[in-house]
Amino acid sequence: MTATRLDRRGFLSLAARLSAMALVGCGSSEVAPTPTPTQELILVPQLRTATPAPVVATPTATPDPRSPVLDRLIPRPFTWPVEGGCLPQSDALLPNAPRTYRNGVHEGLDFYAGSSCAFIQFGTPVLAMYPGNVVRADLDYRDITAQQVRELAALTAQQGYSDAATLDTYRGRQVWVDHGGGVVTRYCHLSSISTGIRVGAQVRSGQQLGGVGESGTPEFITAPGTEMHLHAEVRIGDSFLGAGLDPAVVRSLYLQLFGAA
Ligand SMILES: [Zn+2]
Repeated sequence: MTATRLDRRGFLSLAARLSAMALVGCGSSEVAPTPTPTQELILVPQLRTATPAPVVATPTATPDPRSPVLDRLIPRPFTWPVEGGCLPQSDALLPNAPRTYRNGVHEGLDFYAGSSCAFIQFGTPVLAMYPGNVVRADLDYRDITAQQVRELAALTAQQGYSDAATLDTYRGRQVWVDHGGGVVTRYCHLSSISTGIRVGAQVRSGQQLGGVGESGTPEFITAPGTEMHLHAEVRIGDSFLGAGLDPAVVRSLYLQLFGAA
C-alpha cells in the first residue's frame, strides 16, 4: 500500500484502500463527478495520483484535516436522522452525486419513502444524528414563492451553477447542529421545527428537531407533495463528508459513521 501516511489512521486507511480499488477499476470512459475547487477535499489529489511512490511528496499533498475529526466521530456512531433509516439505495441520493443541471454535486443524504428503510411522510420526525449545539433554526421561515422559483432557475441558468445563496434557499427550512471540531449536521426541507429547538439549544443524539417536509424545493410550488424527503448533510469545515470521493467510498464512509458497516 502506497498511502503510508494514511495507514496511520485506521479509518482513513480503509477509505484510501477502497478509493484506490475504485479508481483502479474505473474505466477511462467513466466520467467521475468533478467537484468544484471548494468542494475538493485534500485527500482526493493524493488518491488520484497515478504514480504510486510520491503520495506524500506530491506538491499538492497537504495534511488531511478530516482524519482527527473522523477518528473522534467514528467510535460513537451517528443516529439515523429518521427512525429505522438506512443509506439510500441509489448512489444518486448520496453525497457527491452529480447534479448536472446546476453543474454541481449533491452534498447530503436524501431519505425518501421507499428507498431509505424508513417510514417517511409529511411530518415524520427528523432526529439529531449526534449530540451537539443548535447553531441555526429557521423559526421564522417563509415559504419559497413561485416568483423565487422562477428567479432562481433563471439565475442558475445564467451563471451556469447554483450559488451558495440559491442552494441555501433550495434547502428550505433548516436546523443546523454543531458537534465541535468543524463538524456540523444540517437537516433540510423541514415542514416544522420542534418546540425548544432554537439557536443555543443542546440536543441529544436522536432528539427530534422537526418534521419531514419539502420546503424550499421547486416542487413545493410546481408539484406539491411530490418531494417529501429529508436532506441531511454532514459538513466538515467548508466541505462535506464524501466530497470528491467515488460512490463506493462515500457509501463505506457513511456506513461506518452510522455504525452500520
Ligand atoms: Zn438532497
